[in-house]
Amino acid sequence: MGKRVLLFPLPYQGHINPMLEVAAILHSRGFSITIFHTNYNSIDSTKYPSYRFVLVDDQEISSRFRPAVEDSLHRLIAWNNSCEQLFHDCLTSVLSDKCEEPVACLIRDTHWYNLEYLANRLGVPTLVLRTGSAATLNWFLAFPRLFEKGLIPVKESQLDMPVVELEPLRMRDLPAVGNCRHQLLHNLFTHGMEAIRASSGVIINTFDAIDHKDVEKFQKEIPVAVFCIGPLHKFTPPASSSLLDQDYSCLEWLETQAPSSVLYVSFGSLACMNYEEFVETAWGLANSGQPFIWVVRPGSILGKDEVDLPEGFTEATRGNSKVVSWAPQQEVLAHTAVGAFWTHNGWNSTLEAICEGVPMICRPLFADQMGNARYVTHVWKVGIELEGKLERGKIENAIKRLMKDEEGAEISQRMRALKNEASCCIKSDGSSSISIDKLIHFMSSF
Ligand code: UDP
Repeated sequence: MGKRVLLFPLPYQGHINPMLEVAAILHSRGFSITIFHTNYNSIDSTKYPSYRFVLVDDQEISSRFRPAVEDSLHRLIAWNNSCEQLFHDCLTSVLSDKCEEPVACLIRDTHWYNLEYLANRLGVPTLVLRTGSAATLNWFLAFPRLFEKGLIPVKESQLDMPVVELEPLRMRDLPAVGNCRHQLLHNLFTHGMEAIRASSGVIINTFDAIDHKDVEKFQKEIPVAVFCIGPLHKFTPPASSSLLDQDYSCLEWLETQAPSSVLYVSFGSLACMNYEEFVETAWGLANSGQPFIWVVRPGSILGKDEVDLPEGFTEATRGNSKVVSWAPQQEVLAHTAVGAFWTHNGWNSTLEAICEGVPMICRPLFADQMGNARYVTHVWKVGIELEGKLERGKIENAIKRLMKDEEGAEISQRMRALKNEASCCIKSDGSSSISIDKLIHFMSSF
């Protein structure tokens, strides 16, 4: 009889995708899979007939919070605080099911920190999945120290001050959510990092060539086993774990466009903008004259249930644009017609762009996005940042810099080299493939 792995993704798109990619890799190596998921953003289990799904009823907790990003931290902490009550019964019933394979271990998201202690009490070995970069772990370790020194919340005058221990980050690039959740973030990172110490190791959706320095730095502070096995999506077929329906008509539209001519614009599954920013974005795109695909997610314009494009926009961009509510992003980025990506720099989007060699216009908004953008522009130098207030002229200028100017050509050249590194790490003798073998061996020893 083989062994079973239990996986607990955090129920957000950017966390579900990589966890299900880990599940697919482990399943292909002979492990049986059980996925735990919440009512909040529950996963469509019919898409995965070979897996067992266990629904954790978090209705009471999740209904206390609004879907807004600002509430996500409160929801996260409430989930963790209710862990014992929420997960104990689900976990014990799976563990005691004698008809099923014995459990090898539990793989949980970094932010499910209290699950660590529950699993420890039940005698289940754990691995942590970090769905962001290795660098984020060092930012999470540094955050409480900077907070205790009084440097966080960051003062207006210190926003551009370098964070000495986290070069090349500036104070403004540190993780943040909204205006005033610093104490909550401090708690989240402190608990999160402590729980990693209690685990058997960390799986990271990254690869050595871009992150090995940060892995070494992290392991000096927390000496656990680390497995860099990304980019995960390159080891599996395109993600079927999308929570929204992906509009495939944009792939047909891309067929009608010239190579490297299209700008793809998407800000991920959580980011929102106000109506004024939305109008500036629309006219910045239209005035650039560059063909574009723009993902306008339902609910992503603050205060608007329905999204009405500005008057005259559709006529002005007819034939040159495709506006969709959700795209098959990995396939879009892989299309030869796509030449640049205006992104919020969620880690999945950043990695997906690197894998397809698509240079980025970076417009980070919260969480690790600012730090990711800083690495894109100042470490790998494969993108430019669009900073400050969103204005149509600035948008137009950024698009021109990246897609028309000499500066953009140099960035594209560096991006091609980085794409090559990503392709190498997934070859059978590449760093991530070797790490997967080590992970399987490690898991077999539990
Ligand atoms: N995504 C998608 N369609 C879209 C926009 C995004 O399928 O129109 C996917 C994208 O490929 C990525 C995930 O949603 O895998 C977003 O994750 P990321 O970490 O980039 O951002 P988040 O949504 O967590 O802010």
